[in-house]
Amino acid sequence: MRAVCWFVCCVLQTLPLLAWAVANADMGTHPGFARGTPSAEPALPVELDAEGRLDWQCLRASYPQITGLVSDAQGLWLLLQDGKRVPYVQASGQAEGEQDFWVTDVRSAMADAYPLEPQRPDTPAGVAPGRRRSYALLEAMYGDSPEAVKARLRPVVFFGQRLWLTASAASALSRAESTLRPVVERDSALRRLLKTAGGFYWRRIAGEKRLSPHAYGIAFDISPHIATYWRWSSLRPHPMQKTYPQAIVQALENEGFIWGGKWHEYDLMHFEYRPEIICKARFGPQTMFPVRPNATTPATLGR
Ligand SMILES: [Zn+2]
Repeated sequence: MRAVCWFVCCVLQTLPLLAWAVANADMGTHPGFARGTPSAEPALPVELDAEGRLDWQCLRASYPQITGLVSDAQGLWLLLQDGKRVPYVQASGQAEGEQDFWVTDVRSAMADAYPLEPQRPDTPAGVAPGRRRSYALLEAMYGDSPEAVKARLRPVVFFGQRLWLTASAASALSRAESTLRPVVERDSALRRLLKTAGGFYWRRIAGEKRLSPHAYGIAFDISPHIATYWRWSSLRPHPMQKTYPQAIVQALENEGFIWGGKWHEYDLMHFEYRPEIICKARFGPQTMFPVRPNATTPATLGR
């Protein structure tokens, strides 16, 4: 009986993940990813724990270039189609982020629970889900130079404004715009918040040394001059972290974007394509069973 329950739970959890993978796959740039269906599951290292297995499922669903996960004395590594490796978790003393808390390996970058809408938990110091990033993963997925990133960019029109984003993020933003169009027709007050302030831009984060996610073509800003950035405001927290319209944030989260309004170091304009984090929020142990888009997430997801 227990085995049957386990099997049923696995099937219930895996089917929506696969469907989500198909919906979010960037098939145009990955010819090996036939019809968006991941190839046969590779064997995973026995030391991979339950959270690691969920991370793996979400990474596979989000990035078809990732084909395997292996271990050696230095840690666990994601294998890519082109033969490169990206550290998933590194043995003590090897971590990429030793010099900078915000630069880390993939496991740490996915460790903080991201609260899906309508959750808007408080954001005291230390709460910034998704603000830590694996630059090794970003470079592997999107390019390690302006030229390499530009080669993957596609134009996307968002409420009449053209942006350049990496192909998968451009497709996701186009789908979010389709969702938002009828919402904006019903509530025209939202329109002034949908003015964009650019997508791809090879630059460093304002006030910091590391590259911005805009440099990889995965981020765009909206609501300039209305929404603000933590370094430009004395408010901690900022009231707009609670009041910015749910309809906008939810439409973008449903397509794989996280919102910088959910960080202590808030960036209220900023949306960033991080489908693995949205996937983990949706299918993680906090929810037990998959949550439909637009459904209310349990309170336990907040922190
Ligand atoms: Zn931004």
